[in-house]
Amino acid sequence: MDFELSREQKLIQKMIREFTENEIAPITAETDRTSTYPAETIDKLFDCGVMGMAVPKEYGGAGADLLSAAICVEEISKQCASTGDIVATHNGLCCAPILENGTEEQKKKYLPMLTQGHKVGAFALTESNAGSDASKGTTTARLEGDKYILNGSKIFITNGYVAEVFVVFAMTDPSKGTKGISAFIVEKDFPGFSVGKHEEKLGLHGSPTAEIVFTDCEVPKENLLGQEGKGFRIAMATLDGGRIGIAAQALGIAEGAMQEAINFTKTREQFGRPIAKFQNTQFELANMHVGIEAGRLLCYKAAAIKNTGARVTLDAATAKLFCSELAMKVTTKAVQMHGGYGYTKDYPVERMMRDAKITEIYEGTSEIQRVVISGNIL
Ligand SMILES: Cc1cc2nc3c(=O)[nH]c(=O)nc-3n(C[C@H](O)[C@H](O)[C@H](O)COP(=O)(O)OP(=O)(O)OC[C@H]3O[C@@H](n4cnc5c(N)ncnc54)[C@H](O)[C@@H]3O)c2cc1C
Repeated sequence: MDFELSREQKLIQKMIREFTENEIAPITAETDRTSTYPAETIDKLFDCGVMGMAVPKEYGGAGADLLSAAICVEEISKQCASTGDIVATHNGLCCAPILENGTEEQKKKYLPMLTQGHKVGAFALTESNAGSDASKGTTTARLEGDKYILNGSKIFITNGYVAEVFVVFAMTDPSKGTKGISAFIVEKDFPGFSVGKHEEKLGLHGSPTAEIVFTDCEVPKENLLGQEGKGFRIAMATLDGGRIGIAAQALGIAEGAMQEAINFTKTREQFGRPIAKFQNTQFELANMHVGIEAGRLLCYKAAAIKNTGARVTLDAATAKLFCSELAMKVTTKAVQMHGGYGYTKDYPVERMMRDAKITEIYEGTSEIQRVVISGNIL
């Protein structure tokens, strides 16, 4: 067991930390206030290889390992959880399933688009009546000649109104339940594809969330991802990997909030001294540190296991559950430590608290992580 990052991982961490401090931190508050998709930042992240970080170089990616990809999301999310979400979704939920399940032709066509081509990716599983129980989706895909015809809609899709490539799940044989679900690679320009409602959210204001709609949407037969009927397995395996990204995002949010709490309590004086001099403040900061160290170990361990190709369902759910609840606890406490200032937009902790909440909900709620964990240990 080695607790040191490799030389390459340290270099990537340094690069992304500097990028985040110089390019992302200055615009985060404005991104949140105006609910603006940070298009320029994402373009720059494509240029420095973060979008497609773990895609092999032969397909246009940076060819780094999955721990490096998690470190990127962690570092970005310290300053901007929205940007962290856009990156985590692109890498973990769109590039990864294509890399892991695609034919050579699909990988050669789509991965360079999602890396060098600056096209953002998305993952479309959730429907209005199929959230935690994703097996109950009613979007259908009917084979007609050399095309599948998709009908239905997906909601809450991250990158929904900016993405150009979607990994979509639809029923090819509704009589077979989960074994009747198949996965497809869908481009936004395919006939019959459209974007519906743009969501207004509690947090993650810079992350574009939208409904996507298929109205007799024509998807070439060769865009079936994996075999017919294997879509549900692909979705669940993808979410195993994706949850490591959310753990990293939550970890980054918690780290960012702890730093803000340290900065504030060292300078804010009450009763004639900085509030960091009160033992209660010190103990709360110590608790934050302990949680963050534990969360980082769980997150990095899950990424390292996934990198070996081994099954990571239990470790990913454990890391995601722990880190997302940690992010909520740390950000809430950081707001408390700021007193009234923490409740205003003059300090970033209120945004961090709003952003943290989603990590307990998407890619499986905390309750669903507990279902997965208990199912694996019983
Ligand atoms: C901002 C945002 C971005 C998202 N991005 C994407 C995306 O890119 N792609 C995508 O496909 N989806 C995405 N989602 C959807 C997200 O994954 C779902 O919202 C989530 O899985 C929960 O599903 P639901 O909202 O239908 O809640 P429900 O499943 O209706 O759950 C409601 C409550 O019931 C609880 N519950 C449900 N089942 C159980 C159970 N068995 N035991 C105990 N409690 C249970 C839940 O934990 C929750 O507290 C996103 C959602 C949001 C809000």
